[in-house]
Amino acid sequence: MKAIVVKPHQPGMEVKDVNIEEKVGKGQVLVKTLYTGVCGTDRGIVGNKLSFTRPQEGWSELILGHEAFGQVEEVGEGVKELRKGDYVVPVVRRGCGVCLNCKIGKQDFCETGNFVEAGIRGKNGFMREEFVDDEIYLVKVPEAIKDIAVLTEPLSNVVKAIEEVMHIQQRMVWNCEDGAYDCRNAYVVGTGPIGTFFSLLLRTYGFNVYMLNRRDPSPAEEYVSTRIEAEFVNTTKGVDHLPKADIIVDTSGFPSAFVPLMHKMNKNSILVLFGTQTGDKVQIDADLVTFMVENNIAVVGSVNANKWHFKSAVNYLTMWKEKYGDLLNRMITTVVPPENAKEILENKPKGEIKSVIKW
Ligand SMILES: [Zn+2]
Repeated sequence: MKAIVVKPHQPGMEVKDVNIEEKVGKGQVLVKTLYTGVCGTDRGIVGNKLSFTRPQEGWSELILGHEAFGQVEEVGEGVKELRKGDYVVPVVRRGCGVCLNCKIGKQDFCETGNFVEAGIRGKNGFMREEFVDDEIYLVKVPEAIKDIAVLTEPLSNVVKAIEEVMHIQQRMVWNCEDGAYDCRNAYVVGTGPIGTFFSLLLRTYGFNVYMLNRRDPSPAEEYVSTRIEAEFVNTTKGVDHLPKADIIVDTSGFPSAFVPLMHKMNKNSILVLFGTQTGDKVQIDADLVTFMVENNIAVVGSVNANKWHFKSAVNYLTMWKEKYGDLLNRMITTVVPPENAKEILENKPKGEIKSVIKW
C-alpha cells in the first residue's frame, strides 16, 4: 500500500509502496485512512531535528503520521462497539504496560518512558492507505464532524493541558462570583492551530482571551480572533494596556516570548508551557523568582493526551461545529494528495493554520 516513510535520523521523506501484512486480529479493526494532519513534529522528523524519533521494532524505516481520521472497513472477532462504516480517530501514544498510569489508561503520564507513539517513536504511523488497530485505541467520531475530525488529535492535547490547569487551580477558589470564568484573563502566546485551540477552549470556559504574537495578525488570524471575540495583540507594540493575566499559555516554546510577560501575572495565576523549541535563551533573575513565590504562581508543562482527552476533543468539535463551523473549516488551509505531501512536509505553506493530506 501507499505510505509516507522516513528514515529516522536522516533528513527527507518518501511516498512509496510498502509491503505490510497486517491481519485483523481479536479486538482489532481495519481502518481506511481518510485524512492525516501535518504538524511541527512531522516536519521535525522529516527535517531530522527530533532526536527521540525511532522506527518500529524490526523496521529500518518509520511510517509517518499521528494526526489521523478514518473509516472502519472491517472488524475482527470480539470487537464490541465499532461497526463497518464508523468514523474513527486513533489515539497516538500506547502505554508501557508496566507503570500504574499506563495500566489505567493514563499513558500520557507514563512513568517509565517506555511508551511508543504512532508515527513518532517505535510505532508505524497513519500516513498510509489503511491500518489495523486495537479497538481500545480508537475513538468513534460522529458523521456530522467528518470534515473537521482530523483536528481531534491536536485539540486533544489542548484539552489535556486545560484539564491540568483546572485541576491545579482547585488549590483555591478560582472561578468568579457567578461560578463561571468570565472575570479571568488569559494570554495565549502563539497563534498557530494550537494557540487557536487554546483560545477557543478558554473562550468556551468564559475567559477573556488575548492572542499574542510578535507581529500583526495575518488575515486568517484576524478572522479567528474577531470570530471568537478574543483580542489579537502584537507584543512588539507593548502590553501595558492589557489587564493582569490569570493564565498564560505558551505555545511558542520561546522563553524570549513569554518570560517578559510574566510580570503581568496575577496573584495565584498559572503559566502553562506547551510549545517546544531549541536554542532560545532568556535569563531569569531572583526578582522574578521572588515575584512568583510571593504570588503563588504555578508553572506546569503539558504533553500528549489520553483516550479521554480524545473523546472530549470529539465532543468539543461536535459542539463547536454549530457555532464555529466556518472557523473550524477555515483552520484547514491546505489539502493535498499523498503524492504531493512533500511540499507540505518539507515546507510550511504560506498562511498555513493546518495542512492535511487527503487519502
Ligand atoms: Zn508507562
